Amino acid sequence: MAPSSSPPSSILIIGSGVFGLSTALALATRPSFKNTRINLLDRSPFPSPDGSSIDTSRIIRADYSDPAYAALAASAQEFWRQQGDSDLGGQGSYSECGLVLVADKGKQGEKYVRESLENVRKISGSQSEGTIRELKTRKDINEAVGTGGGSGDWGYINPQSGWADAEKGMKYLHRKAESTGRITFLTSEVVSLLFSPTSTSTPNNRRVLGAKLKDSTSLHADLTILATGAWTPSLIDLRGRATATGQVLCYLSLTASEQERFAKMPVLLNMSTGLFIIPPSNGILKVARHSYGYSNPVSIPNPDPEEKGRIQVSVPRTARDDPNLWVPEEGERACRQALREMIPELGDRPFVKSKICWYTDTPEGNFLIDYHPEFEGFFLATGGSGHGYKFLPVIGEKIVDCVEGRCPVEFKGKWAWREERVENVVTEDGSRGGRPGMVLDEELRKGARL
Ligand SMILES: Cc1cc2nc3c(=O)[nH]c(=O)nc-3n(C[C@H](O)[C@H](O)[C@H](O)COP(=O)(O)OP(=O)(O)OC[C@H]3O[C@@H](n4cnc5c(N)ncnc54)[C@H](O)[C@@H]3O)c2cc1C
Repeated sequence: MAPSSSPPSSILIIGSGVFGLSTALALATRPSFKNTRINLLDRSPFPSPDGSSIDTSRIIRADYSDPAYAALAASAQEFWRQQGDSDLGGQGSYSECGLVLVADKGKQGEKYVRESLENVRKISGSQSEGTIRELKTRKDINEAVGTGGGSGDWGYINPQSGWADAEKGMKYLHRKAESTGRITFLTSEVVSLLFSPTSTSTPNNRRVLGAKLKDSTSLHADLTILATGAWTPSLIDLRGRATATGQVLCYLSLTASEQERFAKMPVLLNMSTGLFIIPPSNGILKVARHSYGYSNPVSIPNPDPEEKGRIQVSVPRTARDDPNLWVPEEGERACRQALREMIPELGDRPFVKSKICWYTDTPEGNFLIDYHPEFEGFFLATGGSGHGYKFLPVIGEKIVDCVEGRCPVEFKGKWAWREERVENVVTEDGSRGGRPGMVLDEELRKGARL
């Protein structure tokens, strides 16, 4: 549905991850919404323990094969680079340690890395000379990484990328949003959206009126913005458009001297396997995989009460649901192999913690930022596809531009509601490792912890 001609008198944003929280801040500071009541609701008190936006670290890179995301990420990096005490990148929130982006020649991921190199060279212009450097052999890669190991056999190093402490970044955003004094922060779980019934006089004019909460109360709003990350497909039917996929992360402890040493390494990401290591912080090193992930199919009633029957959707399962949840053996094995290859001296160090973190994947890895075509008063801000965090300082403004009907031209087709459903959502943006089609329960059954 199109935006209304006048600003809504009330907006309910559901989900206070990067997408929801940044939207609330942008609405609160935009003059056209000065008379709009803004409610931001999350099922967990901030910071959400299992939201995708909260973790030890997230890669901050403009290294994209798609020039539109590369340019948007470069604009976000300008904020990350502001390092004063009261800036986003200050107090250790952001570290520009460089990124070694590699692939295995002739395999999936190589094209992504080549296009990405072209894009970052263009963005950096003359600054890229002598800094962004092609790594033509495994030996070059190992030297650039400096840990005694490496990965892949071709790639490049971009010293203008780095990583952020994800929780610190979100806390900064939260403080900024609070300081506007314009946002009401609410904690409650949405059990379903509140749909208007089909009226015989206006059969094509259904609305989302707000949300029903777990305590049986309801919240009403002129405009409801759904930003519930990987939980979104459980609240509105997104079959063939977006799905939740679980990704593996394993953590190991370092001594103080190892922490000091490896803190200087660049981020290392292999786009053929999806495996990556981000430099450690607070004595914890993370090894993870950017992959097709696991699905967790569950049968639920169709979220629209007027649609009869049940639908099957992939629903996140996190440590909040099962405190003993450990990654499947195949995922742990992949992380172990990556550790042995990337930092050989730590290769056999046991993992002290693991986590399954959930992407909201779309077919091409594009975000979904648009009005729902069937319901008035209903907007979606989701589809992070495993790469949304870095846009923290800029994505809220873009989302609100879309709410006002002014989607940036370069993202017009990309962020729009897809007319056609695909049969199975498998993100093919050229960056994913692992194999598609893995089901969490099946993989968990295959093996206990190594
Ligand atoms: C393992 C992993 C690694 C990643 N690495 C990177 C990276 O290196 N760089 C990068 O840029 N991006 C990365 N990403 C992607 C990035 O983290 C996500 O795209 C982004 O955080 C998504 O934000 P979100 O607001 O959509 O979702 P979330 O942060 O998950 O927020 C959704 C919120 O909705 C709330 N919610 C859910 N259901 C309900 C309900 N029923 N009622 C009320 N509230 C509800 C949740 O509590 C949560 O707080 C990674 C993601 C993962 C999982």
